[in-house]
Amino acid sequence: APFSTAVAKEFDIPKATIAKPPDYGQLNPPPRLMLGPGPSNAWPRVYTAMATPMVGHMDAHFIQLMEEAKELLRYTWQTKNMFTVPVSGTGSAAWEAAHANLTEYGDVTLCAVNGYFGERAVDMSSRYTNNVARIDRPWGEVFTLDELKEAFAKYKPQLFWIAHAETSTGARQPLEGVAELCRQYDCLLLADTVTSIGGVPLFIDDWGIDAAYAGGQKALGIPPGMAPLTFGERALDKMSRRKEPVKNWYLDMNMIRKYMVSDGSGAPRSYHHTAPISMLYAFREGLKVLSEEGLENSWRRHRTVGEYFWEGLAEIGLKPHVAHAHRLPTLTTVKIPEGVDGKKVVKHCLDNYNIEIAGGLGSLAGVVWRIGFMGYNSKKENVQLLLAAFKTALK
Ligand code: PLP
Repeated sequence: APFSTAVAKEFDIPKATIAKPPDYGQLNPPPRLMLGPGPSNAWPRVYTAMATPMVGHMDAHFIQLMEEAKELLRYTWQTKNMFTVPVSGTGSAAWEAAHANLTEYGDVTLCAVNGYFGERAVDMSSRYTNNVARIDRPWGEVFTLDELKEAFAKYKPQLFWIAHAETSTGARQPLEGVAELCRQYDCLLLADTVTSIGGVPLFIDDWGIDAAYAGGQKALGIPPGMAPLTFGERALDKMSRRKEPVKNWYLDMNMIRKYMVSDGSGAPRSYHHTAPISMLYAFREGLKVLSEEGLENSWRRHRTVGEYFWEGLAEIGLKPHVAHAHRLPTLTTVKIPEGVDGKKVVKHCLDNYNIEIAGGLGSLAGVVWRIGFMGYNSKKENVQLLLAAFKTALK
């Protein structure tokens, strides 16, 4: 039927008044092999999962998939924490959720800073409290328990942030004794596990970690977009004792809980935000791939490939920045030899091999390259490709 006169008038638009759309080509990204600090290439099955038609975010089928993703995540982190969810957003969103929910203004937060992400922890927690203390270590080194004890005695924190895996330096922080120290001071232990989850032995419950977050885009082989977050009993208790509401609406886990976590009563979930459905498919699929391989096999694979890479580096005369004992198998910082232009090598790998690696951040800019073999990318043939690219770049 023809439009009414009024409607027809609305569409009687002189052509010249409509701005033209940009004329771009079809989506056609280059086939990069992403061997930097993340993201790494996703598992092929994960891409397939993302292309699966959507159901609604409140659909019972979707809620079931979310439950499965959460259970797979508990396995991945070796935790029984009921509050274990994929936060809609990247690792930083899950991270900010931890500070926003577990800190009240005036609380003392202590951050262990030995890299770029430690600096971010100071910045992030300072948005939620006026009492941020820090303990520092050179980038590439780790903290000893005695150093942490000293800092606890000095600052008496309520929340302690530490990176299990510092992606800016490639250092793996031992966590033995840290949970006991935290309990002694009635302090929550918040661990950044973005570059360790799935790739390095990690036991949330056995190690007494009260809260942790991660990202999917590293050793889990999932594109960025949903980020793991877990709170144990002590963290939930702190949340329940809050005097003020969480100062971040989107990341208020009291509200998100009603959508993502069953209260056991069978009550229907309530809408909080429209979950990124295709991302949840990807997230569940990536964790499913990991569970089929077996967590310990994935840890072992990352370590084997890491060692293989370090041996290969030695053969071409390159040295890792971090001591072997504290080196992450997932992400290696490699010293740029004197006289070599690090940026040129990065460009060489990209232009000639379609391989992405990265330079250093902060105080390690121009000092190291950052090279990761994570998740789907953690395999010996990728090490060989990278070493071949390096040989031609350095000759
Ligand atoms: N923490 C660490 C150790 C990281 O490596 C990253 C990202 O690389 C983040 C936090 C932040 O995660 P995202 O970039 O996914 O927000």
